[in-house]
Amino acid sequence: MSEKSRYSSTRYHDPGQQEFFSFENVVLKGLASDGGLFHPDSIPNVRNNLLDWKDLPFPDLAYEVIRLYVDEITLDKSKNLHLLELFHGPTFAFKDVALQFLGNLFEFFLVRKNKNSEASQSRHHLTVIGATSGDTGSAAIYGLRGKKDVSVFIMFPDGKVSPVQEAQMTTVLDPNVHCLAVQGTFDDCQDFVKAAFGDAEMNKIHHLAAVNSINWARILAQITYYFYSYFSLLKTDPDLKPVKFVVPTGNFGDILAGYYASRMGLPVNKLVIATNENDILHRFWETGTYSKKSNYHPTKNPHNGIPADGSQAHAEGVKETLSPAMDILVSSNFERLLWHLALENEFAINPHVKRESSVRVAGGKIAAWFQDLKTTGKFTVEPELLDNAREIFATYRISDKQTTETIRACYRGEAVEKSGYVLDPHSAIGIAASLREISSPEHNKDVAVVSLATAHPAKFANAVDLALEHESGFSFDTVLPEQFVGLDKKERKVIKVPANTDLAGIRELVTKEVEKEKEERNGST
Ligand SMILES: *Cc1c(COP(=O)(O)O)cnc(C)c1O
Repeated sequence: MSEKSRYSSTRYHDPGQQEFFSFENVVLKGLASDGGLFHPDSIPNVRNNLLDWKDLPFPDLAYEVIRLYVDEITLDKSKNLHLLELFHGPTFAFKDVALQFLGNLFEFFLVRKNKNSEASQSRHHLTVIGATSGDTGSAAIYGLRGKKDVSVFIMFPDGKVSPVQEAQMTTVLDPNVHCLAVQGTFDDCQDFVKAAFGDAEMNKIHHLAAVNSINWARILAQITYYFYSYFSLLKTDPDLKPVKFVVPTGNFGDILAGYYASRMGLPVNKLVIATNENDILHRFWETGTYSKKSNYHPTKNPHNGIPADGSQAHAEGVKETLSPAMDILVSSNFERLLWHLALENEFAINPHVKRESSVRVAGGKIAAWFQDLKTTGKFTVEPELLDNAREIFATYRISDKQTTETIRACYRGEAVEKSGYVLDPHSAIGIAASLREISSPEHNKDVAVVSLATAHPAKFANAVDLALEHESGFSFDTVLPEQFVGLDKKERKVIKVPANTDLAGIRELVTKEVEKEKEERNGST
């Protein structure tokens, strides 16, 4: 393992020998055993190579792959506002970019491990188990379908994901894909997954792997399109100034990739976090406190007492919004950013100590903060750390009402020059935040703003309909991709999981299905 490509945990802090991990380990393990996340030990700086980069084989190769998923549209020339469409993969959501890559990586590592083991008994085999409320499940299934030596089990709450998303998942008939319709909520699904990962018996039988957004390989794949979109703007403007990226954010994976790109030397002016009403990140940037409990009190209309931005009254826990892929209580990847900020703060305070000891102090802080989050529901960082976070990032919180207004105003050509463009609710949150950033006094209108579009509007028909049903000339058929036509009538494969199923039941089900797969494969070869 070379020093350049090694990884460690964000929570490493004990005085013993620091443990490093290979990329393969990081991809296959997902989460570090101390509960922390993996991060690269050092970030390569390519600032001096930037001009040559676009001619090197690697970006050419990355372009070839990424351009299948990516499109860039200029929404408003006068505002220098561009939309980066990341939803041209097989499931019409940006998660395809990372999960197509992850699926191939899993297969690559397994084929390599299995090169010398012919007997089926001793072959390395991965059992991927995931819970989904929609988007991750279908993107994971399409990333892993047909992959050798990988079985994938995706649990979703029966009847609680959108009809399109359910059809996308259950119409995949590959033998290694298993959809489990759980009679319960998304939280029940997630609890099953957590219990399975913590179950000694399960781990004895299966090599379990996760595909959720904490897997480093997903972040890595997403770094590419920040470079791609920068270079595509550079082609039309050789004097391009550092760019602002605006990202609809949930688990902080997508925007974290932008942070790594900027740390690598990509000229980035600002990374703008756009959240829905699940606004833990927005509140952190306002206050320096990362807290599960919302303290947000929107200005209320004095006449009717309803918040002026149309927010819902504040309840505990996750709020259901029109942008469900961003409905989170805490953002798992935020820990990685905090680790970098904590380390830099350490360097600034104690410039003369060895890097090793600064790394230990930073890891100790992360471990303590996340312990606090677990026990008290919150933690607060130092003011200097918050200042640094504010230098690179800005945040906006967008309500459901503002989301539908943005879809409408964009379609009408009121918010932007281009008319007739149909945004999905997640991308609309990005555009709403972009427009606020552009109208802020500090914004320089020569700076290009790239707003990331994370899903195709046809995936979130109800929110789009809510915004556009009364628009003359609007019909959903005009935005429906041909892959969605007739999807609801295709053959389905799904296993119902009754409400009273326990962990042993799940274990038995998974084991039986994996055995069946192996027998089928051995029979057919
Ligand atoms: C997952 C998702 C997001 C949020 O991305 P994070 O990496 O979790 O911040 C935004 N929009 C859509 C459509 C998504 O599926």
